[in-house]
Amino acid sequence: MAVRADRRASLELLAPLAGWVLPLAEVPDPVFAGAMAGDGVAIDPIGESLHAPCDGVVVLLGENRHALTVRANGVDVLMHVGIDTMKLGGAGFRMHVRDGEEVRAGQSLLEFDLDAIVNRAPSAITPVLVTGPRCGLIIPRHGDRRVAVGDFLYAIEAAGSANDAVPVAVLPAPGIMVREFRVPFEHGLHARPAAQVAALLANLDAEVSLRARGREANARSVVAMMALGLRYGDVASAHALGHDAAAALSALEGLFEPVGTAAPIRKPAPRTAPPAPGTRVPGLVAARGWAIGVAAPLVSTEPTIGPALGDQAAERTRLVAAIDGVKGFLNRAADASDEIRRTILQAHLAILSDPQLLGDAQAALAGGASAGLAWHTSLRNAAEALQALDDPRMAERRADLLDIERQVLQVLSGAPAGAQVPLPECAIVLADELLPSQLLALEAARLVGLCTARGGATSHVSILAASMGLPALVAAGGAVLAITAGTPLVLDADAGVLIVEPKPAERARLEVLVAARGAQRVRDEGAAQEPAMMLDGAVIDVYCNLASVAEAASALRAGAEGCGLLRTEFLFLARSRAPDETEQLHQYQVIGDALAGRPLTVRTLDAGGDKPMSYLPMPHEANPALGLRGLRTSLAHPELLATQLRAICRVTPHGQCRVLLPMVTDLDDVRAVREQLATASQSLGVPVPPLGVMIETPAAALLADQLAAECDFLSIGSNDLSQYTLAMDRLHPTLAERLDALHPAVLRLIDRATRAGLARRIETSVCGNLASDPEAVPLLIGLGVRELSMAPAQIPRLKALLRTLDTGACAELARRALESVNAVQVRALVRDWSKRNA
Ligand code: PEP
Ligand code: MG
Repeated sequence: MAVRADRRASLELLAPLAGWVLPLAEVPDPVFAGAMAGDGVAIDPIGESLHAPCDGVVVLLGENRHALTVRANGVDVLMHVGIDTMKLGGAGFRMHVRDGEEVRAGQSLLEFDLDAIVNRAPSAITPVLVTGPRCGLIIPRHGDRRVAVGDFLYAIEAAGSANDAVPVAVLPAPGIMVREFRVPFEHGLHARPAAQVAALLANLDAEVSLRARGREANARSVVAMMALGLRYGDVASAHALGHDAAAALSALEGLFEPVGTAAPIRKPAPRTAPPAPGTRVPGLVAARGWAIGVAAPLVSTEPTIGPALGDQAAERTRLVAAIDGVKGFLNRAADASDEIRRTILQAHLAILSDPQLLGDAQAALAGGASAGLAWHTSLRNAAEALQALDDPRMAERRADLLDIERQVLQVLSGAPAGAQVPLPECAIVLADELLPSQLLALEAARLVGLCTARGGATSHVSILAASMGLPALVAAGGAVLAITAGTPLVLDADAGVLIVEPKPAERARLEVLVAARGAQRVRDEGAAQEPAMMLDGAVIDVYCNLASVAEAASALRAGAEGCGLLRTEFLFLARSRAPDETEQLHQYQVIGDALAGRPLTVRTLDAGGDKPMSYLPMPHEANPALGLRGLRTSLAHPELLATQLRAICRVTPHGQCRVLLPMVTDLDDVRAVREQLATASQSLGVPVPPLGVMIETPAAALLADQLAAECDFLSIGSNDLSQYTLAMDRLHPTLAERLDALHPAVLRLIDRATRAGLARRIETSVCGNLASDPEAVPLLIGLGVRELSMAPAQIPRLKALLRTLDTGACAELARRALESVNAVQVRALVRDWSKRNA
């Protein structure tokens, strides 16, 4: 037994790791080396498992699993595995214990991947510290020696009782001083900044605590502060009492950011030097098109979070009035908008009435927050929860929450809702990230294009830009923020590039091109309702991908001949219970009706470890893309699948819907669903809908002949197929350029799948992004694909392209592409071929 609670309350600690014991001074981090986070020794590990150094209770320090504390006999023993390992975000760490769990000395607490730490962090040296204001002497201080797990490490004299060492809540009392701060540290209030807080207060005579999210921590205890789990941008209040209270708060002011502005939830993109004339800044295409104009940098001032002007009731009234003000503005704007814009504004109106957001704000008001702080806290918590989903589509909904936060804060600070921002003529607006309301507030008559440093191609602002016919690029990086106002620009949002100060001759050439493309777009849209008949008479079915009810009608206007992929996740995520059969039926039926009898392909839920649903307990997965995802989730919850299948079967007219299964790997998957589908249709007395399989795992592509024998159609999910074939995460920020679905390895798998479909005379469509890539389309046709499904906005252009192609020529091109050595070569081949055939 490691705890020896004798009369001097001494505590003996056993080595939690195998390795070499070092003095703290040798830790390559000044905070640990200077004992600012606590006193003790460090171990340079040779093992990969961390054990309890004594009996005690586990206190977990945030979500990143790289550090934990065992609280014993009045002392907190902090073990911080490696240096700067916070930034690994928990990758490579496997926690075996839960917060608050009682552990015995020697019990395994955590396993870690030593190689990963050595490769990705500055050091694996692990400080083993005793922390808190009252832990006594350490004996012996160190010894340059090797220890095995469980060997004696050091003893401490623990002053006082266990209760003393637990951070004591400072209750509001007369004379207490309070100041609100924002956490400015990129990785939150982790060990290093927490140690700096404690060090700042070391010589001051004041009881200081930090409070956030209804929890409180003694600001002299590194462990207690880390356990608050504060992240970058969070707001906390510091409460100080005693002789040096004012000095303590001033000292903290130097470390934290004052609250007063609503900081962006992420740090702004770093600025770079202004791009030289002629520079081509690449970005992601959010809305296609061309624009010639001048730079109009959007200086976005963050709204102020004002102080409380009255008591709780008065603050509540102010908040309600501000919310009502924004609602009034949005309602008026929605009435005067087209359908797409109205849908987005209505989504914003729903956020303003969301009971959970209002309830959280109410709780913050009850805790003494001002109207602004209460609204800010509630919205930021919700935005952070969405961000944590790791699903880009959901994370982008975060922007809507931030937008609503901003609008209400603006009204609270006295500005009118929806004030217009003036622009120069032919403005190409440059911004870090743009929110829908900011876009709508821009003077539309002078706005010709947009380019943002960050943002996603599927965000509402991108959809809005497309609906307004505004060419837009996103994720162009910090360079766009360095361009000065008035700089001549050309925005080529077809090629995904912003050209800074083009030479006069180049500009003239581009002006001609812009005019020609504008005319082409008008022609494409005019012919969008016509079939996509190729030169040799082959007709390609051009379908749309949908992820909401709202998109269906506009998809038809864009020329969609059906829906090749309804991503039903939109119905399931970000809610507290699964949608029931009636609710699902209603949504599918509305979409089916909007499609007016055209085929509707409903994909069963494609959720999983990276898209958690509170009503479906799912284990944490180290690698969600390879985990319980897609159909695997549905099969693990048969009731969920049965409900969805019944809802699809009930859509009328029967025969309009087909069922598509995501993330299939082999026939077992298909057979399991086939059985359930038969049961559902039999019990409803309706015909069995066609059942299709997504070819988005290499396994499914390789076994496509077997799958094709037992299903009614195949649909190639090129987004996942390329991620799994090339072993590159589709969300990876730096691999994005190399993750090209035109890689010959992916093309060979597509070839295999289309051959399997042809041999069984069933349709093989493509519904991943490849279907709307103009360089990919001739190859897909050449490989035998006769159905393409894509985002509605792409349809007119793609139909026009298809009308210029010939199946025989495409087949010859595809044959050569299959022999290429990489995606770059494939693209060069297609470009060259297109030029020669133009
Ligand atoms: C795909 O993987 O290509 C696909 C269409 O599915 P999602 O993008 O929804 O994963
Ligand atoms: Mg997929």
